[in-house]
Amino acid sequence: MAAVAASKFQFEILATSTGGARRGRVHTPRGTYETPVFMPVGTRGTIKAALVGQIAEIGFEVILGNTYHLMLRPGAEVVASFGSLHGFTGWKRHMLTDSGGFQVMSLGAEYSEQGARFRSIYDGSVHTVTPEEAVALQELIGADIQMVLDVCTMLPAPRDRVERALELTHQWAKRARSTKSRQDQAQFGIVQGGGELDLRAESAKFIADLDFEGYAIGGLAVGESRGEMLAAIEASVEHLPEGKPRYLMGVGDPVGMLEAIARGVDMFDCVAPSRIARHGQAMTFGGKLHMKNLRYQRDEGPVEDGCPCAACAGYSRGLVRHLLNVGEPTAGMLLTLHNLTFMYRLVQRARTAIVDGTLGAVIAEVRSAWDAGPD
Ligand SMILES: [Zn+2]
Repeated sequence: MAAVAASKFQFEILATSTGGARRGRVHTPRGTYETPVFMPVGTRGTIKAALVGQIAEIGFEVILGNTYHLMLRPGAEVVASFGSLHGFTGWKRHMLTDSGGFQVMSLGAEYSEQGARFRSIYDGSVHTVTPEEAVALQELIGADIQMVLDVCTMLPAPRDRVERALELTHQWAKRARSTKSRQDQAQFGIVQGGGELDLRAESAKFIADLDFEGYAIGGLAVGESRGEMLAAIEASVEHLPEGKPRYLMGVGDPVGMLEAIARGVDMFDCVAPSRIARHGQAMTFGGKLHMKNLRYQRDEGPVEDGCPCAACAGYSRGLVRHLLNVGEPTAGMLLTLHNLTFMYRLVQRARTAIVDGTLGAVIAEVRSAWDAGPD
C-alpha cells in the first residue's frame, strides 16, 4: 500500500477488476467508508427536502457541504461555534467540504495570483477568497475532508485560458498544502486541465507530487461530451497514485459514473439526483421517468419495483404524479428519497460487480436503459 503508515487516512483496496476499477475502503479518524461511493450534496447544511436520519437510513456514509454557501450564510465561525458542521447539522458520519472553486467560477469570479474575487448571491457584497483562507474556512467548518481552492474552466475553452487556470490551480494547491494544519482532516488536491489531455497529465503529476490524502478530478461535466470527459479522466488517473482515493467532482449521471468507476475513480458527488427529483424526474434502473406524465395518472404501482425507499414502500405513481401536478412539496421529498436510494443502489451494484468481475455487464445494462432516452 502506497499510503504512509503513520497517516490517519488510509485507502484499502479490497478488489480490482480489469480496466482499473477498485472496490475499496477509506479509513479516517471518524471510522471507515466504502468505495465506490456517491456523496449526496448538502449545499447549505442540509440535503434539500430530506432529513439527516433519512439519508443515513438509505445507507450513505459521506455527504457534502459547500464552503461558498456556509461562509456567506451563516458564516464559518457560526458553524464552528457548534463544534463543526457535524454538530451544526446533526450528521454523524463522514463529511466533505468543497472549497467553493466551482461556485465562484459559475458566478463569474475574477482570478488573480492572490485568490478569487466574487459577489455573494445573497446580498451582492464582494468577497475575495485566497487558497490559504479556503483552508482556514474549511478547518473552521471542520468536515473530515477538505478540498483545495482551484480554478475551474467552463468548456469548451481556448487552450491558453485552460493553461492560465492550470498555473493558478497548481500554485494555489501548493499554498493550500503548506497551510493545512488540522491533522484530523484529509486534504484532497484537484487535477484540472480542461479537455486538453497533455495538460490533464501534467496537472495529475504536479498535484500527485504534493502528496495529498486523496485526489480529485475537477472541471468536468461543464459542457464537454461524455467521450471527452472519459478521455480527460483516463489522462488524469494514469498519473495518480494507486493507494489514494480518487474523486470525480460533480458527475452523477449513472452511465458517466459507472464508466468512471471502470477507469479507477472511487468517489462522486452531484446535486442532480435531488434537483431533478424536485422537478418530477425519477431515476430508475429502467431509465429516467417523468412522473408528471399523464400515463401515471391511474398507476397504482411504486415509482420503481423492487426499490426499498420510503416513497416506493408506501406511495403509488398515481399519487406522486398528483402531488407533483398540484405543487405539493411532499412530492419533491418523496422523489428525493427515491433518487438518492437509486444512487446508493447503483454504487452498491458497482461494488458487487467489481468483486464478481461483472462491471462491464452492469454498465451495458444501465447504458441501454439510460441512453435510450427518458420514458
Ligand atoms: Zn424508491
